[in-house]
Amino acid sequence: MEIYANLKYPFELPELSYPLGSLEPSIDARTMEIHHGKHHAGYVAKLNTALENQPALQSKSLEDLLKNYTDLPQDIKKTVINNGGGHANHALFWEVMSPDGGGEPSGELADAINDVFGDFASFKETFTNEATTLFGSGWAWLSLDQDGKNLHVGSTSNQNSPLLENHIPLLGLDVWEHAYYLHYQNKRPDYISAFFNVINWDEVAKRYAAAKG
Ligand code: MN
Repeated sequence: MEIYANLKYPFELPELSYPLGSLEPSIDARTMEIHHGKHHAGYVAKLNTALENQPALQSKSLEDLLKNYTDLPQDIKKTVINNGGGHANHALFWEVMSPDGGGEPSGELADAINDVFGDFASFKETFTNEATTLFGSGWAWLSLDQDGKNLHVGSTSNQNSPLLENHIPLLGLDVWEHAYYLHYQNKRPDYISAFFNVINWDEVAKRYAAAKG
């Protein structure tokens, strides 16, 4: 299944489905503006530049490029991993947040979380711990593993996408300092805690259902 099937060269910065300031007080408008308009836009631009002389790769989806990164030409491999991952990760990140977010998942996703982690509080603790202890820049994830069967909490460094490991990302939290430093400075745990107030569980559940097929 191709979550990123519609993402193809030339890649474009997706518009946010909510106003920049609407995630406040959890995430401030200025951080959203720079994060989306400068950082994410930068990954998109660099990804396009890397592919502009690669006609054979331009027809491939972002998911194909990342899952099959070992096939990429050596001279653009790292650039596509970093900036293609950056584009995929941020495209997901904006969508799994909402001004109406927070609370807990329901339905099949809630059942699966309870099966794997015991209950929602234990999942939250596991995810929070992963995001808190990640050293340097990277992402915390709730994903489906290689078989597309089991939920998994983990992290990736830099802009590495879970797709590189054939995991299907469902929920991602950006813990690069650019995601929180303006408002939270060094208090990453406060940012992680606030993130849970804006998680769009309906969107995560939709991705879970699609990934399960
Ligand atoms: Mn970011």
